[in-house]
Amino acid sequence: MIVVLKPNTPEEAIEALKKEITSENNVEINHSQGTETTILGLIGETQHVDIHKLRSKGIVEKVLRVQEPYKKASRSFHPKDTIIDVNGAKIGEGFFAVMAGPCSVESEEQLTGIAEAVKASGATFLRGGAFKPRTSPYAFQGLGPAGLELLVKAKKATGLPIVTEVMDISQLAAFDDVDVIQVGARNMQNFTLLKELGHVGKPILLKRGMSATMRDLLMAAEYIMAGGNDDVILCERGIRTFETATRNTLDLSIIPVLKRHTHLPIIIDPSHATGLSWAVESMAKAALAAGADGLMVEVHNDPQKALCDGDQALTPEMFDHIMSQLKRYAQIEEKAI
Ligand code: PEP
Ligand code: MN
Repeated sequence: MIVVLKPNTPEEAIEALKKEITSENNVEINHSQGTETTILGLIGETQHVDIHKLRSKGIVEKVLRVQEPYKKASRSFHPKDTIIDVNGAKIGEGFFAVMAGPCSVESEEQLTGIAEAVKASGATFLRGGAFKPRTSPYAFQGLGPAGLELLVKAKKATGLPIVTEVMDISQLAAFDDVDVIQVGARNMQNFTLLKELGHVGKPILLKRGMSATMRDLLMAAEYIMAGGNDDVILCERGIRTFETATRNTLDLSIIPVLKRHTHLPIIIDPSHATGLSWAVESMAKAALAAGADGLMVEVHNDPQKALCDGDQALTPEMFDHIMSQLKRYAQIEEKAI
């Protein structure tokens, strides 16, 4: 339920109303303060809230029942775009973040080299998998905790915040120095993991499951937010369709639709979406033009020898070229890159 207050309602009156609502009902209040308007989002047993009584209050402009099953993730609860600030690297609204790095961390030499190269080209985050969800149990599974240590070393060397995937709650203890925790497409509906991430106090990069609808994605975000963690970055990384010419089908049209339904930032991963390194540039430009708040791209110093996803990996030179193109596009879109 949403209670919209009249413009310029004094703070004391707002607080008094909040107190009255919570003392009479088993609900939690999400307070969203705009420059003039105040929105109180009620979550919990809202079916028992006396809507007529609320509407009769002098400071209340209107009361609406929210149709969507997600609340904290909903734009109606929080009309302003959320901007997530990770040690000064911002994502959301006018800030376009670029997360770049290898699919998996393979060695110190590989990671440091790539980290320095992507930083020089303008990446704002370093990505790299230490725990890898692989289709085959015989494929390289990632370096595990040793990979995390290499990521932290690369972060110290370059100053880039790091983004890496967690596959299981048991791994979280080793994530203290990780800046953004990634939930992979295959784990988007691992509800036990999502609940735990509601308490970690770090931003979560939530990738859309390959057969997840927008509602499924936003409900997964809601699981994290319901636990108290509001910093969720959504990532469209391609969905499964009948098309086999690309690894997945990049659903760019979800960007404007998501923007209507949620205030959370949305980034695009054209690497896993296409599976084709030469297709990444056009999809990256399209993502920026379509209103995305950032990108996640895979970059490898020697794609042919990559232990994972070599076909979609950009070389540092290709990445550098794409960044120079994106900087031009960002000017048209008035985004800081
Ligand atoms: C990744 O980013 O390395 C990854 C495994 O992506 P996804 O979960 O989208 O397949
Ligand atoms: Mn990959």
